[in-house]
Amino acid sequence: MRQCLLLLSFVLVSLAADSTWEQKFRAIPNPQNLRDYMQRMSARPHHVGSPYDKDNAEWLVSKLKAWGLDAKIENFDVLFPTPKERLVEMIEPVKFTAKLEEPQVAGDPTSDQKNEQLPVYHAYSIDGEVTAPLVYVNYGIPSDYEQLDRMGISVSGAIVIARYGASWRGIKPKVAAEHGALACIVYSDPRDDGYYVNDVFPQGPERPRDGAQRGSVMDMPLYPGDPLTPGIGATADAKRLPISEAKTLTKIPVLPMSYGDAQPLLAALKGPVVPENWRGALPITYHVGPGPAKVHLKLKFNWDLKTLYNVIVRIPGSQYPDEWIIRGNHHDAWVNGADDPVSGAVAEMEEMRGLAELVKQGWKPKRTIIYAFWDGEEPGLLGSTEWAEAHADELQKHVAVYINSDSNGRGFLGVAGSHTLENFMNGVMKDIEDPETKTSVWKRSQLVGLARSAPDRKHELRARPDLRIGALGSGSDYTAFLDHLGVASLNLGYGGEGGGGGVYHSVYDDFYWYTHFADTDFVYGRALAQTAGTAVIRLADAELLPFQFGDFADTVRTYIDEIKKFATDQRAQIEEQNREIEEGVFTASADPRKKYVPPSKQPVPPHLNFAPLENSIDVLIQSAQKYDAARQTASPANARAVNAKLIESERRLSDAAGLPGRPWFRHMIYAPGFYTGYGVKTIPAVREAIEQKRWQEADEQIQRVGNILMKEADLIDEAAAALAK
Ligand SMILES: [Zn+2]
Repeated sequence: MRQCLLLLSFVLVSLAADSTWEQKFRAIPNPQNLRDYMQRMSARPHHVGSPYDKDNAEWLVSKLKAWGLDAKIENFDVLFPTPKERLVEMIEPVKFTAKLEEPQVAGDPTSDQKNEQLPVYHAYSIDGEVTAPLVYVNYGIPSDYEQLDRMGISVSGAIVIARYGASWRGIKPKVAAEHGALACIVYSDPRDDGYYVNDVFPQGPERPRDGAQRGSVMDMPLYPGDPLTPGIGATADAKRLPISEAKTLTKIPVLPMSYGDAQPLLAALKGPVVPENWRGALPITYHVGPGPAKVHLKLKFNWDLKTLYNVIVRIPGSQYPDEWIIRGNHHDAWVNGADDPVSGAVAEMEEMRGLAELVKQGWKPKRTIIYAFWDGEEPGLLGSTEWAEAHADELQKHVAVYINSDSNGRGFLGVAGSHTLENFMNGVMKDIEDPETKTSVWKRSQLVGLARSAPDRKHELRARPDLRIGALGSGSDYTAFLDHLGVASLNLGYGGEGGGGGVYHSVYDDFYWYTHFADTDFVYGRALAQTAGTAVIRLADAELLPFQFGDFADTVRTYIDEIKKFATDQRAQIEEQNREIEEGVFTASADPRKKYVPPSKQPVPPHLNFAPLENSIDVLIQSAQKYDAARQTASPANARAVNAKLIESERRLSDAAGLPGRPWFRHMIYAPGFYTGYGVKTIPAVREAIEQKRWQEADEQIQRVGNILMKEADLIDEAAAALAK
């Protein structure tokens, strides 16, 4: 009896000790520090290759070292074009030259740092000079070109002007080039990004008339990172492709502009009035063209190699040093970048200060913890991708989980990532307090979900023990870890209230804007540090890695159902359309006095055999149930063997041969869409084959993904068996 009591108290003490470290940690992050770091890091423009980018990296290292951490800089040399010449002028029917400048705003002290600011441009556009008639193409996504076909309008030989939105920006020049356009302009329409949304800066948070969105147009759905070193680290001695062979540059020149610059161009278009859902919020009637507006566009870039400064911190593990937990956020910006990325980077700094404090007090994490402050995220996930490629072998061997963040604001926690970690993140969310409503972050997410979800989703939100997390597409530094290396990954960030994306990638994303319109008292910055830091501590110290497979299997089940429904709907829709073409529906419903080209009949898709996916998901669900049940009663005696299987579990969802046509992307469950960019395509090899009507490929990929899921089920069975030993 006595002994039993002793044992019991030992267990209690050991549990208490673990949660005490977490609780101590959560008391450390301090909003005032976040504010001070942000003021420092966003004081000057700090894009790749700029003096202040390097300066920030060195400052980070000095801070981290002062806290007692082992921090160092790791360099890579990457292709990073910057503008040499930018010209957009209308030569007919009226003369107009676009300013392509973001003016300084009175009262905003950093908006005037002209000599250090990168001009408004799209990185990895090719050089070019074009004079051609203009065509307005709405968002410039594939369905917009189908609409243009109905109007009998071709963009072949034209310059297209598309508005931002509905896809990642790099998709617009890609699709425009596929349709024969010679150049592309992408502008911010106030309907989506400006005065229609809210007051504009500096009165409000939204994009002012002359504000424009910089950004990368690299073909990242093919492969991200340095265009000259696909698949390998861009080290000093790396073998580089000649620029002419880099596959991820655009095919046509492309440039962003403000609505101030775009309005005269759009106002000069004639031709048909645009369909209703193509209309923006400028005070003009939107026409499609082509012409009579004729535009002369000229772009020239400096095609230089620039040095990246990744900051890497390592805290060695005491018990499982060969199992690594990695946490990252980028530090480079397009200009001053107070929101993107400094709001996330400063939270990561406070996590580091907190972990350093615990180490001083005697905390010894069981696993190795690596913190990264990436450089070169903005141009194309350069710092994280090159690091992941350079260290691919050891990372594939050792990394259990990667946790990413980027920008942070006020509101609700957004969580997306590997569904094997869904249950784990639900647990973390229950232990973090929402700083404004004082409920748990989990409870607030559930309630907001109820407020915003469709009626048929509400039951699940109340009844399912875990809130669902999103799937990751691309758009930040998790991409190389998840999609290329097959490392279970998470992306975290607060947002949804207050200042939105109105100054995104402009000179106005600065300390003045952030402290007036975003997380002005930095309490959500503290919440992000608490959330991500708690996750890191828990992952580093758990005897058994907290992977769970029930949520994962349940999620894959929903993806399979979605794809099957898509295939059925697509078939029905094509059959119906073919029938209506025969009946003359399209010509009868179009205005006979306007040009109209009815669609032509399409082959009816064959019925696909989904049995390989159906059979494998049934097996996977059973294996997951077995493992999750065994996990409830597991003794940690055999943890090392089980953990090895758990780490392997995300790798096994990848296939070395990669996705059809883009082998860099190896994950068979998640990928950024080839025609959506940031937007995720789940079970991408199957889904995209069906969407793009490649039926034989769809059949092959159903078989292939079915095999991968079967192998995953085998691995989960092995983990359950190891757990029972
Ligand atoms: Zn960012």
